[in-house]
Amino acid sequence: MSDFKYSVDGDGVATITWDTQGKSMNVMNQQGFVDLEAHIDTALADDAVKGVIITSGKPGSFAGGMDLNVIARMKESAGDNPAQGLFDGVMGMHAILRKIERAGMDPKTNKGGKPIAAALPGTALGIGLEIPLACHRIFAADNPKAKIGLPEIMVGIFPGAGGTMRLTRKLGAMAAAPLLLEGKLNDPKKARAAGVIDEVVAPEDLLSRAKEWVLSARDADIVKPWDAKGYKMPGGAPYHPAGFMTFVGASAMVHGKTKGVYPAAKALLSAVYEGAQVSFDTALKIEARWFVNVLMNPSSAAMIRSLFINKEALEKGANRPAVDDQRVQKVGVIGAGMMGAGIALVSAMAGIRVVLIDASQEAADRGRAYSEAYMDKGIARRKATEDKKAAVLGLITATTDYSALSGCDLIVEAVFEDPAVKADVTAKVEAAVGPDCIFATNTSTLPISDLAKASARPDNYIGIHFFSPVEKMMLVEIIKGKQTGDVAVAKALDYVRQIRKTPIVVNDARFFYANRCIIPYINEGVRMVREGVAPALVENAARMVGMPLGPLQLTDETSIDLGVKIAKATKAAMGADYTNDEVDEVLFWMADEGRLGRKASAGFYAYDDKAKRIGLWPGLGEKYPRAGTQPDVTQVQHRLLFAQVLEAVRALEEGVLEDIREGDVGAILGWGFAPWSGGPFSWLDILGAAQAVELCETLAATHGARFAVPDLLRDMAARGDTFYGRFGPQAKAA
Ligand code: NAD
Repeated sequence: MSDFKYSVDGDGVATITWDTQGKSMNVMNQQGFVDLEAHIDTALADDAVKGVIITSGKPGSFAGGMDLNVIARMKESAGDNPAQGLFDGVMGMHAILRKIERAGMDPKTNKGGKPIAAALPGTALGIGLEIPLACHRIFAADNPKAKIGLPEIMVGIFPGAGGTMRLTRKLGAMAAAPLLLEGKLNDPKKARAAGVIDEVVAPEDLLSRAKEWVLSARDADIVKPWDAKGYKMPGGAPYHPAGFMTFVGASAMVHGKTKGVYPAAKALLSAVYEGAQVSFDTALKIEARWFVNVLMNPSSAAMIRSLFINKEALEKGANRPAVDDQRVQKVGVIGAGMMGAGIALVSAMAGIRVVLIDASQEAADRGRAYSEAYMDKGIARRKATEDKKAAVLGLITATTDYSALSGCDLIVEAVFEDPAVKADVTAKVEAAVGPDCIFATNTSTLPISDLAKASARPDNYIGIHFFSPVEKMMLVEIIKGKQTGDVAVAKALDYVRQIRKTPIVVNDARFFYANRCIIPYINEGVRMVREGVAPALVENAARMVGMPLGPLQLTDETSIDLGVKIAKATKAAMGADYTNDEVDEVLFWMADEGRLGRKASAGFYAYDDKAKRIGLWPGLGEKYPRAGTQPDVTQVQHRLLFAQVLEAVRALEEGVLEDIREGDVGAILGWGFAPWSGGPFSWLDILGAAQAVELCETLAATHGARFAVPDLLRDMAARGDTFYGRFGPQAKAA
């Protein structure tokens, strides 16, 4: 059955209704284009048809975008010349959308075309907005929840079905920039104010208003400005004085934000710049060439794989054990501090009943007040309503009374990071809940299997590790203890799905996965400072390779005393195997100086009296003077990246990670590992195992055994393997 339905009413208005089978939101696939084109051909050829409305059969949405698997398949199926295959495919899309836009009109006189309106019941993303942009008028239902925009840049590509050319020609490069370069989404009213869509109408009037327009539109109403004589780009094309300023500014801004490591942003800007200087049809060809250039770039392919395909697969439960639905009805959150308060908030926002417990009523109330303040901020920003706030707060009971936990099917414990406190809480909880209740700890450093010893039901005991701030960070790391059972894993996964975050499931080992990789990154940065590498070089090298924060800034953000605490605990546990004394020297000295990081307005950075970071602290350079010879930026970057990815490889080797997709997605969402790379394993695949081995050998010879090549990587280099070739889902299934 086709995803597009066609009908013609008694007034000669044809309606093409998009209704993707088996999905709650429309998604474009290869067959979809074929069907859409066939209906357009029928409408244009039928004399009884006066005009067309393209709409959606899904209530509240038009389309979520393109199924990016299609692009992956297009490339794979194009044989020896994938670039040509992609280019032909993209030009095919352009031809269909151009057919809608020209609607049968005479190429010379621009007369005789049929009006085609897009009627959007709600959300319209990616290709779901590019098709409307090719129509002659875009109507959207007044649906404040709807999101309208072109988010492609977020997954490492750009709008390649004409959206880039049409939006810049419709709005001008300056106004289109945030929509294209940041993937900014708007509700219908804001999209109308930005000029992206043309009319917002009451939902019940959507189709009648579109029909009214179709029946009244004249020839001049359906000629796009860029197809009319004398078209000038709003705000000026590149050689217009104002346009010149825009393009120079945009180049600088893009480079400032992306540091040149994201190929899509650069390519998009090139396409816009070049496309603005030629006819529209030539511009589409230019867009297609740049789009293919991006699709052929290994970074884009890796970003699509991690941030779209694999992220979604993990969210849908790719590694969920096959047990019944475990959606959470009532959650008990123990400890109403920074983490507990956030966990209560995200749970209540997902409609889950929450019992929030702390040692005193005052502390419990403070935890609940966090949700109140959060919702108030949302209301002030018009992102929430009083009703939503009342609903969220109505779901949270703050108390000290454990008997309120009766009926909970999940507990998330977030009390002090102290095994004795956690053990005490575990016993109290288990006395109050039923035998099927799953108990999760939010510990960031303590082994789950050890903590589970305090539980009478270790098969129901699991780690659910949130990142701070809970409401912002999208990753949740689920940790299986030695005895954790399948139901507990499924419960944790179903819960993470309810609160709309992305889960990874790992086995129990020191620091689990994310912290295991991020701590060596921080340590490597601190080590370099101690060696006399200029702190600014360390920080800038990290940012230039796509890390969101340099290691020193990250230490300031997470606080230096926390680093000291973790270092002391790790040393006590590891004894003679501990290798970070050099790092500790710097951290302990900083702590003694009272430079505890951002919270103290003093750390590796200096801060002004409004707690704004003003630059690296000069005292650091006095204590650890700059060495006469400085490494080049690539050497610094290799040290910082390999410190992380070698841990990821070891985590895989040791079975802490069971799925490299989780390793990649977890790295990007958990600690912002250079997203352009697609994650540590994708980065190693781009680099190639042989080159990685060579670089690590040099690093190990110069800087120490922490860079020693893991056996797995050496073996892969010898066999010419890639991680995705050897451990990807296809390899696993084979
Ligand atoms: P916090 O100090 O802000 O909050 C802990 C809360 O637990 C306090 O409100 C305290 O009163 C309460 N509490 C202590 N003992 C209790 C008891 N016996 N019964 C009931 N309540 C009790 O700490 P936090 O930063 O929210 O961390 C909580 C847990 O989450 C720790 O295990 C920590 O390692 C982990 N964690 C923290 C972060 C982070 O960035 N802060 C990130 C991930 C995980």
